[in-house]
Order: sequence, then structure tokens, then C-alpha cells
Amino acid sequence: MGRSSKDKRDIYYRLAKEEGWRARSAFKLLQLDQEFNLFTGVNRAVDLCAAPGSWSQVLSRKLRGLEEKGEKVEEVKIVAVDLQAMAPLPGVTQIQGDITKVSTAQEIIRHFEGQPADLVVCDGAPDVTGLHDVDEYIQAQLLLAALNITSHVLKPGGTFVAKIFRGKDVTLLYSQLKLFFGGVTCAKPRSSRNSSIEAFVVCQNYSPPEGYVPNMSNPLLDHAYDVDFNQLQGPNRVIVPFLACGDLSAFDSDRTYPLQLDSGKQYEYTPPHAAPDLPPLPAGLPPPKKQPAVQRRCQTSRPEPGRDGSNSR
Ligand code: SAM
Repeated sequence: MGRSSKDKRDIYYRLAKEEGWRARSAFKLLQLDQEFNLFTGVNRAVDLCAAPGSWSQVLSRKLRGLEEKGEKVEEVKIVAVDLQAMAPLPGVTQIQGDITKVSTAQEIIRHFEGQPADLVVCDGAPDVTGLHDVDEYIQAQLLLAALNITSHVLKPGGTFVAKIFRGKDVTLLYSQLKLFFGGVTCAKPRSSRNSSIEAFVVCQNYSPPEGYVPNMSNPLLDHAYDVDFNQLQGPNRVIVPFLACGDLSAFDSDRTYPLQLDSGKQYEYTPPHAAPDLPPLPAGLPPPKKQPAVQRRCQTSRPEPGRDGSNSR
């Protein structure tokens, strides 16, 4: 039996209400901070996929806390982004947009021109479909879009924290993240349900490969698969050696060759080694009507004569 919505209102749900957080997720960021000390020396932060805003609340309270106590801190800047609109929060600039769009990425970057961020967090999650492979794939795309934005705004040495689904291909994501950060840890806060495959990657000490130039040619953004990757240089472009194999005098598979018969020899038909899928048409029947490709692929047997009227007398 599934849990009723009342059961889902667990201790963190109730605590969030009591302490004034907009969502129970606030505790995930607070518990990550207990372990990784995320906010020390942080004045500028980006909260990607921020609605309804409990992580932004945590950022606002933690970064602006000292300011409110009258202590002199550098100007605090917090930028929160989400597809959905969010109720305003003190000291938080909001952008409503899709983080996989170049336009949103550029808008975030504009806010940080000349002043890189110290911390980027992303709690982005797609609307889960229940198809695990699809959900994990979309989640990974969100994380990579967040990483792309991060590469434009995060200062060297900065920290990136993002939700990750620990699916079967998660090691590929870890290795991509490890290219950009000195340390990558996968953390599971107590407030994240054990029944969920969600966890958080805490990526510390941002240090992209030497010569890496952040760019918007990431095909994930706006699905721009027509990007000319040849224009990318140095570490921005991965070049895998290309090797043509086989004797150059062998037949070219893109050319048509005339029959090559020894003089005086007749062409001899060689039957196919595998029998065709469909048995040959009985003699005297007209060929079946042309069907759309999808239907043709699904067809396992020839339509019986007369069923569709084409062969009826
Ligand atoms: N951290 C938030 C908090 O503490 O209130 C909760 C985030 S909620 C789990 C996930 C959010 O990701 C949703 O608000 C959703 O709108 C946002 N999201 C999903 N895909 C997005 C995208 N492509 N661009 C921006 N936001 C996205």
C-alpha cells in the first residue's frame, strides 16, 4: 500500500513549517553545510532550479546574516533561477528561465560580470516520469547544463553543489565533474529519503583544465547539435585519433562496380544465406499495397487476401 499524503509529512516537513522554510529541502543544504562548511567566505552565490526557494532562504540567511547583525561584509549577491516564478526573498535577485537555454545562462552571467561567484548550487529535478532511464538522463542533462553555467561564473577554487541521481551511469558524470574540480564527493544528507536515488555532488576547488575557455557551444544548451566543434581549440576540444583501416586497394563501399567476370564465364546467381522474412507471394496475386514504414516494421505476417478488400473479387 502506498503512503498517504499525510504520512509523507515527515519530521523535516514539520520542522520546515516550524522554522519558516519554504520546503523541507532546506535541511538538505543545511546538512551539507554542516559537513562541508559551504558558506565560509562566500559573498556571491547562484541558486539554480531554486523554486519554491528554501535553498535561497538558506543562502540569504547564511550570507546576509552577518550583514544584518551589523558586521561589515562584502556586498552579498544571490541570484536564483527557476522555470517557475518564486515569491520574493530579501537580497535575492530572481530570474525566471530554463537553465538549459543559452539566453538564461547569458542572463545569469551578466549579473556576475567581473565579479565571479564563490558558490553555485543546483537542486534541479525534472518532473519524474517513473521511467528510471529517462529520469536519470534528464537529471544528468540538468546537471550538465548547471555545470556549463558554473564554468562561466564560478571563481577558481569555488564550490559547486548539485543534485544527482545515483543511476547506473553515474560514474560518467563523476568523471566529467572531476575534470573541472579538485575534489568531488557524493553526499547523502539525513533529510534526503533513503528510498530516493537522489544524492548531492559536492565539487570543491574549481580548477578547469589549463587553457579551458567556457563556451556556449555545449550541445545540451538549446539542443544546438549543429555547432561547429572544429572551431574549438586546445582543451576545449577532445581529439581522438582517426585511423582508416584495410588495404587501400580494397573495394570502396561508396562506389558501384560493374560485374567482374573472368572472360567466357556466365554470371551465376548466389541465393541469400538467410531466408527472407516474408514468404514469396503465391503466384498470380498482385503485390501488397505500400504501407507506412512503422506499420511495415510491425507487420509479422502478410495480410490475408481479401481482409483489406484489395484482393477481394
Ligand atoms: N531547491 C528548491 C528549494 O529548496 O525550494 C527546490 C527545487 S525543486 C526540487 C526542483 C526545481 O527544479 C523545480 O522548481 C523546477 O521548476 C526546477 N527546474 C527543473 N528543470 C528546470 C530547468 N530546466 N530550468 C530551471 N529550473 C528547472
